[in-house]
Amino acid sequence: MAQILTGSEVVKALDEEIISEVELLNKRGVTPTLAIIRVGERADDVAYERGAISRAEKLGVAVRSIVLPEDTTTGLLTQTVESLNSDSQIHGVLLFRPLPKHIDEGMLRSVLAPKKDVDGITDLSLCGVFTGLPTAFAPCTAEACMEILKHAALELRGKKAVVVGRSLVVGKPVAMLLLAQHATVTIAHSQTVNLPALVREADLVIACAGQARLIDGSCVSPGQVIIDVGINVAKDGSLVGDVAFEEVEPLVAAITPVPGGVGAVTNSVLVKHVVTAAFRLTSQ
Ligand code: NAD
Repeated sequence: MAQILTGSEVVKALDEEIISEVELLNKRGVTPTLAIIRVGERADDVAYERGAISRAEKLGVAVRSIVLPEDTTTGLLTQTVESLNSDSQIHGVLLFRPLPKHIDEGMLRSVLAPKKDVDGITDLSLCGVFTGLPTAFAPCTAEACMEILKHAALELRGKKAVVVGRSLVVGKPVAMLLLAQHATVTIAHSQTVNLPALVREADLVIACAGQARLIDGSCVSPGQVIIDVGINVAKDGSLVGDVAFEEVEPLVAAITPVPGGVGAVTNSVLVKHVVTAAFRLTSQ
């Protein structure tokens, strides 16, 4: 039986930290505030927004939601981001992606002020993750993986980590964060040959490919720690990860569940980033 690394325990620890920091900000007359920009009505964006608002408000962080129609223009979105950049009441900005295809996402990423980039989407934030710049915010999901490992007090130094996925949202940044903790990191992706053999050699596996049941019993070996980032909708409508949990859990040392693992921690990391941004912006 593996140790189940549930997100709720990590969330509890992070929330305690956030609440005491929000109290300090309130004493200085500051209400940390997150702006969320959503384009259109994609069901997963709406659901994520609802979760983020509820978590933020519970912790004393205000949220301003800005919803633009699906046919909005790059110009209007740029103006919206620029006005939030210069709004002293706003400390963090979360822009839901992917954006509709007619929007120049690369351009928008460069418009957002890095100090308010609480989900690490700008090139400067990502550079900071690669160079170890302490003021850069990492993408929340990548950092949520690290918070889970930290909470479980797992030693990463010298461990072999395989990250399955190479997106800028999860795979690449989490690989850099693991490297900073002295793990020996391999990044696997859709063109990797013989993935099961590679994954079996790892001490730690971060599954972030967005492929249900990609990591099954044939990919794992005893003693491994498995962090499942994937969120996939099964045929019956339920949410499943990238790991075949019922096959893998009896074989490994520790594993995160889906739901209730990384996803649960991501919202708390987002709120933590807003609070940190509020401290930095109001201390200048
Ligand atoms: P993405 O599609 O941008 O990237 C997926 C990556 O996986 C790609 O780099 C691709 O090369 C790799 N990949 C795809 N198929 C593969 C295969 N068969 N073998 C090896 N590698 C393969 O996705 P993303 O935005 O990085 O998200 C990944 C998953 O994480 C999705 O399921 C997404 O829903 C989930 N996610 C979860 C959270 C959270 O908070 N838990 C947040 C963001 C994304």
